[in-house]
Amino acid sequence: MFEILQIPALSDNYIYIIIDKKTNKTACVDPAVSDAVLALLEKKKLKLNYIFNTHHHHDHIGGNLEIKKKTNCKILGPEKDLKRIPGIDIPLKNNDEFALGNINFKIFEVPGHTSGHICFYSENAKLLFCGDVLFSLGCGRVFEGTNNQMWSSLLKIRSLPDSTNVYCGHEYTKSNILFALSLDPENKKLLNKKNEVENLLRDGKFTIPFNLGKEKKLNPFLNSDNKNFQKMLGVSDYSSQRTFDYVRKKKDLF
Ligand SMILES: [Zn+2]
Repeated sequence: MFEILQIPALSDNYIYIIIDKKTNKTACVDPAVSDAVLALLEKKKLKLNYIFNTHHHHDHIGGNLEIKKKTNCKILGPEKDLKRIPGIDIPLKNNDEFALGNINFKIFEVPGHTSGHICFYSENAKLLFCGDVLFSLGCGRVFEGTNNQMWSSLLKIRSLPDSTNVYCGHEYTKSNILFALSLDPENKKLLNKKNEVENLLRDGKFTIPFNLGKEKKLNPFLNSDNKNFQKMLGVSDYSSQRTFDYVRKKKDLF
């Protein structure tokens, strides 16, 4: 049993607090800021044991040092970003494992958005914290890595079970759906999803987390090797990689 608290921060970031109910072990994922995290910990009478960082961007680590100072927590983050992320105590690399109470996490290196990006995957809790690699209906911009790395990282995530609940770093779903619909305007599932998302946002709710199985069907980036999708885009002769490059470029200009 576990609980996940979701804190919206800055303009469109999400910070998550994971609590393993049996042991009360608690971790905070990608604290963009410290104040909202510390206030919620205080309100819920929680002791924070760990911070999990997915990558070095400031809107994912901005709260690190202040939270560490106030709570004495340990910080876990990518070994490759030891110099760029302040306060890391436990450096992580591909296939490392880490237990938060009864929740077992496996670490995957998923470069592309940044070169050192990692994600935290739990098979037994069906959770994925993927930072800025995969978004609902979208994927992260390729800032430091190559498109080739990003496509490989997305394939790694796509290979996880359909039942996985994905917790990403930003609320970008609405604009991602508009982009997906610009490629595939008649897609009924996308049109339904657009309604669903608009209703959630209108009620002040979150569109995150999302189900990976549904995402595999709807996310244009995860369909770069889908022959029907390529045909619809008019790029049937493209490789999967070239299709991914094409869709990523279109999104960058959208
Ligand atoms: Zn980022």
